[in-house]
Amino acid sequence: MKVALKIATLWKCPKCGRQFMRKNQSHSCRMYPLEQHFLSKEGGKILYQKLCEKIKDKVGPFKIESLECCIQFVSTFTFTAVKIFKDKIQLDFSLNHPIKNKRIKKLVKLSAHRLLYFVEIKSEEEIDTELITWIKEAMDKK
Ligand SMILES: [Zn+2]
Repeated sequence: MKVALKIATLWKCPKCGRQFMRKNQSHSCRMYPLEQHFLSKEGGKILYQKLCEKIKDKVGPFKIESLECCIQFVSTFTFTAVKIFKDKIQLDFSLNHPIKNKRIKKLVKLSAHRLLYFVEIKSEEEIDTELITWIKEAMDKK
């Protein structure tokens, strides 16, 4: 008797080598050197590093994909994107429930049940439990 083995394999883009859940998933193949994001942006770099440490510590491991637009944090999908500025960073992440909070700088409706939130981080203190909870929810697709 033959048993069909179903093994979930990630699709690897032949151009850029990035891996995705879906075959031919649309994405930008153009990778961008990570260090380029931090040129003359020492303050932003420190905040970015703090954020990475905190997510790894409190949420779990993830991959980093550096694109020209932003730095993406990826599990099996991109759960957060970060933009580096001189003295601040901007994060966006999507959730399927509304948040009312003055920290949300901008809000984009992606679909009926999915909202993209933008938050700015200007100091290490702002990388707090509240923010990490939102990121964890984004990673869990909540
Ligand atoms: Zn690609």
